[in-house]
Amino acid sequence: LTLGTDAGDPTSVESSRLAEGTADGPVALVWLRNDLRLADNPALQAGIAAAGPRGTTIVVYVLETAAGDSQVGPEAGPDSAAPRALGAASRWWLHHSLSALADDLGAIGGKLVLRAGDAATVIPGLAAEIGADAVFWNRRYTNARNADITIKAALTEAGCEARSFHANLLHEPWTVQTGQGTPFRVFTPYWRACLATPEPREPLPAPTGIRSAPVHSDTLTDWGLLPTAPDWASGLRATWTPGERGAHERLDAFLNDGIDDYHLRDEPADGTTSWLSPHLRFGEISPFAVWDAVRRARSAGVTGQAANNAAKFLSEVGWREFNTSILFSFPALREQNVRPEFAAFPWATPDQDELAAWRDGRTGIPLVDAGMRELWHTGTMHNRVRMVVASFLIKNLLVDWRIGEAWFWDTLVDADEASNPGNWQWVAGSGVDAAPYFRVFNPELQAKKFDPHGEYVRRWVPEYGTPSYPAPIVDLRETRGNALAAYSAMRAAL
Ligand code: FAD
Repeated sequence: LTLGTDAGDPTSVESSRLAEGTADGPVALVWLRNDLRLADNPALQAGIAAAGPRGTTIVVYVLETAAGDSQVGPEAGPDSAAPRALGAASRWWLHHSLSALADDLGAIGGKLVLRAGDAATVIPGLAAEIGADAVFWNRRYTNARNADITIKAALTEAGCEARSFHANLLHEPWTVQTGQGTPFRVFTPYWRACLATPEPREPLPAPTGIRSAPVHSDTLTDWGLLPTAPDWASGLRATWTPGERGAHERLDAFLNDGIDDYHLRDEPADGTTSWLSPHLRFGEISPFAVWDAVRRARSAGVTGQAANNAAKFLSEVGWREFNTSILFSFPALREQNVRPEFAAFPWATPDQDELAAWRDGRTGIPLVDAGMRELWHTGTMHNRVRMVVASFLIKNLLVDWRIGEAWFWDTLVDADEASNPGNWQWVAGSGVDAAPYFRVFNPELQAKKFDPHGEYVRRWVPEYGTPSYPAPIVDLRETRGNALAAYSAMRAAL
């Protein structure tokens, strides 16, 4: 288990100031970000250990805004040090996740401190306020790591130790590279290289006690993360239990009843996938905990299809890591096409009625409408259907993938800075290891193949087959032809 320094890690610092402590024992500040859990949390564990029996550990979450913004700021560009401003569904999730975390910390004697603002100001300020001897955090790999570099420097300057940990990916981006020392651009060799590294470490246990001290905290409800007028979150509440306990319940349910049917994962009616993505996104469960649980389930004499299912599932977890490593080396992932030739793609000026029909699930294409309604109602959408609705928007409506990505960002509870743009670029053909542009999903054939009894469509589009269901807003054949012509025009312009 390597804690602290890693070659290539830009945020870790070592010093021994913590051992000095104060008259009342050392003061440790643990800054949680996308790791809202007690179990397998190296930064939290190190903070508690550093405080020791006489010291105190203060745990903080910062609602980060770019410098100069009062609340959640405008969209930050790729050079910004602030994380991307959260979408509405993610804000809903964050509220409940923080609430669960505060309860869990309270149960072991701790307290969650909430602060809002530019982390580069808030963290050094809080460290000074509480007289912290050291600050601990788990590393992140998004553009917000720029903030961590600044904060590390400020803390060090102020004589406070700053230590960062490997916690939220099985493989940190700089540790898996091609023989030439460059990032992988194709998933299969990337994942093969990951599998050739030593087995991921076992997860750390949750701490059983923490000594805290009174520190001012914002009030969670004052952050206004929940929708009020109107309250559109009833479907989210019915679908999800944010927080660490909810995450482990999902994992257990999947391992008991789901993973054995994972070969049916492409069928949206069945729900045989893990439903772990928002829990992983907010770090309520670590990938090490997921890996370990699957490994244990698999080593209990599992062979054949069950073993294949487990390997396939872990490779999907690998896609999360692959997308993160792409973002790490290509920070403009949500703004720019990874393949530069797509800058010349002749996107249509979006027809606002068509766009609204796509968003609302009124396109007259049943599988597309079912998916878009599932998304609006539950904050998620089955992976196969995500590919179909994205392909429909990009290819049949010729709308720039960035517009669809932004809608998903606002409405998905698992909206992820790497996986969302990474997958949109995959469907568009503009990304690394992407589906070729000319692969246009046919939503009717996809429905026949993956929803053969129409169960999923009926669940979300009950009026399908009645006169109240709209006619298709576009002709699938004709628009497919237009998409291929647009692609040829782009190629010809090279
Ligand atoms: P499972 O099949 O149980 O997979 C296990 C875990 O592997 C998931 O929880 C997730 O963390 C990871 N995973 C699976 N597939 C992918 C993938 N293609 N890319 C990255 N990670 C993957 N996933 C997100 O987590 N956040 C997003 O913002 C996101 N946006 C997407 C946008 C589009 C257009 C598409 C086509 C896919 C997107 N995905 C995104 C990937 C995928 O659809 C979801 O991860 C998956 O549906 C979550 O369901 P699950 O947890 O039951 O998946």
